[in-house]
Amino acid sequence: MPELPEVETIKLGLSKKIINKKITDIVVYNKKSFQGNKSDVLQQRVIDVERRAKILRIILENSHSLLFHLKMTGQLIYIDRNKRVAGGHPSHDWHDKLPNKHTRVQFTFDNGAGLFFNDLRKFGWCKVMNQEEVEKSFGLFGPEPFSNDFNLKYLLDKAKRYPARTIKQFLMDQTVVAGIGNIYNDEALFLSKIYPKTKVSKLTSHEWQKIITNVRKVLTKGIKYGGTTDSDYVDADGKSGGMQNHLNVYHKTGEKCQSGCGGIIERIVIGGRGTYFCPNCQKEKI
Ligand SMILES: [Zn+2]
Repeated sequence: MPELPEVETIKLGLSKKIINKKITDIVVYNKKSFQGNKSDVLQQRVIDVERRAKILRIILENSHSLLFHLKMTGQLIYIDRNKRVAGGHPSHDWHDKLPNKHTRVQFTFDNGAGLFFNDLRKFGWCKVMNQEEVEKSFGLFGPEPFSNDFNLKYLLDKAKRYPARTIKQFLMDQTVVAGIGNIYNDEALFLSKIYPKTKVSKLTSHEWQKIITNVRKVLTKGIKYGGTTDSDYVDADGKSGGMQNHLNVYHKTGEKCQSGCGGIIERIVIGGRGTYFCPNCQKEKI
C-alpha cells in the first residue's frame, strides 16, 4: 500500500499537471469506486492538490474535493499529449492503452488530458466531499509526522492510553500518526535501534525522541527518492521510485545488517503484518 512518501510523490507529479485545468468529463466504470455526485465535479477547475495521511485530495474551485485512497492496488495515471505521470501500485499493464479493464474512473480535462483511476482489486476509492466533510474525515487522523503536533508530549500522552501496544502497532495506527505503513515503520524502528515488539509503556523519552527524528528521516528520504516501487518497474519517462535501493531492513530477510553489526535481518509477524528487523541492533528489552 502506498505510504506517505508514495502519495506525496503522486501529489507532486499531479500538481504540475492538473492545477488550473477544468474537469470536463467523468466516466465511472465501477460504481463502488466513485462515491458522490459527478455534478459537484464537472466543469470545475482544479485549485490545488494536497495530501493528508495516505489520501490524495484534489481541491476544486467550488470548494468540493476529490479524495483518492489507492489502498492495495490503486493507480493514478495522468496522460496528456506529451507525458504520462503515474503513481501507486506498479503493474505490468501500466503502459497499456487506457482505459483498460482495471480502469474504474476516468476524468477528462479541458486540454484533452485524461486521469485514470485504475484498481485491480477494487479496495481503493474516489470520493467527492464538501469542505465540511473533508474536515470531519481528516480530523479522524493523528498529526502529520512533519507537523509540530507530532512531538514527545503528544506521544507520551497517547502511549499512556495504549500501554500494552507494541511500538510497531502504535505507529501503524493512523489515529496516532498519519501516513506511516509497514515499510517506513520498520525502517524508522531500525534506525532508532528499537525492537518492534517493545511495549510502548517501556519506551524512554530518549527513545521516543529517536522515533520522532527517524520517522521524519525515513519519510524525507522516501520522498527524495520518489517513494518505493518494485525494482523492475519503470514508468513511461524511464523513472521509478528509488527508495527500494535505500532500505535497511524491509524485505531483507536473511541479508546481513547494513550497519555492519554482523546480524542477519529477521522477519516476524506483528498484528498480522510482516515485520523486518536486525536482532542485533534492535534488542528485546527484558
Ligand atoms: Zn544490525
